[in-house]
Amino acid sequence: MSEKKKNPTRPLPNTKELDTQEFWAATKNKEFKYQQCDSCHKVVFYPRRHCTGCTSGKLVWKTASGKASVYTYSVVRQSYHPFFRNMVPYVVAWIDLEEGPRILSNVIGVDDPLNDVSIGQELQLEWEEHEDLFIPLFRPV
Ligand SMILES: [Zn+2]
Repeated sequence: MSEKKKNPTRPLPNTKELDTQEFWAATKNKEFKYQQCDSCHKVVFYPRRHCTGCTSGKLVWKTASGKASVYTYSVVRQSYHPFFRNMVPYVVAWIDLEEGPRILSNVIGVDDPLNDVSIGQELQLEWEEHEDLFIPLFRPV
């Protein structure tokens, strides 16, 4: 008797949203794009139309190196979502990229999420591949 269950997948973002479609398109080339204001030079992330510092509409796309560190984090021990339920315990973290963007993501590749992650820990960006986009995740170096 074979019972084939489809593995639940991570909920994925809308890739057609005007402000973020360029970010998601670049992920397929494993490029982490962020914006920087051409007027006041503030780093802007998540992608949007106007600078959060001076409201200028002159935002320039840049590519991050992938070097990052943990700003802060939490360990999720219980989830009701089918995909995340299979991952517990896992780390959700605010992660600072070297160039300035801060993103909410997962720290992956740790044996013991309760003890193997710390604030300030150095991370490297890597990609979880999907059909229409890749999801940025971070692994300790
Ligand atoms: Zn600005």
